[in-house]
Amino acid sequence: MDCLFCKISNKEIPSTVVYETDDVIAFNDITPQAPVHIVIIPKHHISSPADITAENCDIAGKMFLAASEIAKKLNLEKGFRIVSNCGEDGGQTVQHLHLHLLAQRSLAWPPG
Ligand code: 5GP
Ligand code: ZN
Repeated sequence: MDCLFCKISNKEIPSTVVYETDDVIAFNDITPQAPVHIVIIPKHHISSPADITAENCDIAGKMFLAASEIAKKLNLEKGFRIVSNCGEDGGQTVQHLHLHLLAQRSLAWPPG
């Protein structure tokens, strides 16, 4: 499958990996929107949050666990934001489920 994040997960495309388990991998975003901007993905391909089902939803917990562990490792006690864009209106550009972990600047709410 021609999927950018599957290729990053398989190490066919290099990235700066900051966290890895059997099921989840996280790496620095190539176009960071904050001093800390990490992308957390399942190694197994799921296209978007809209494709989470009763059968595959355990991975969502593992992705949030990754975010929590990365936040502890990076001492993000001042806070952080987790975002998952879905579909055209959600601004999703890579069709492989991911969380953005953004930190170390004040983030506006609501988003634009
Ligand atoms: P989306 O727009 O789908 O929510 O997020 C996709 C993210 O992937 C963007 O923040 C974008 O900067 C990041 N990205 C796109 N291509 C690459 C790449 O080749 N390497 C890395 N590390 N990040 C990428
Ligand atoms: Zn993929």
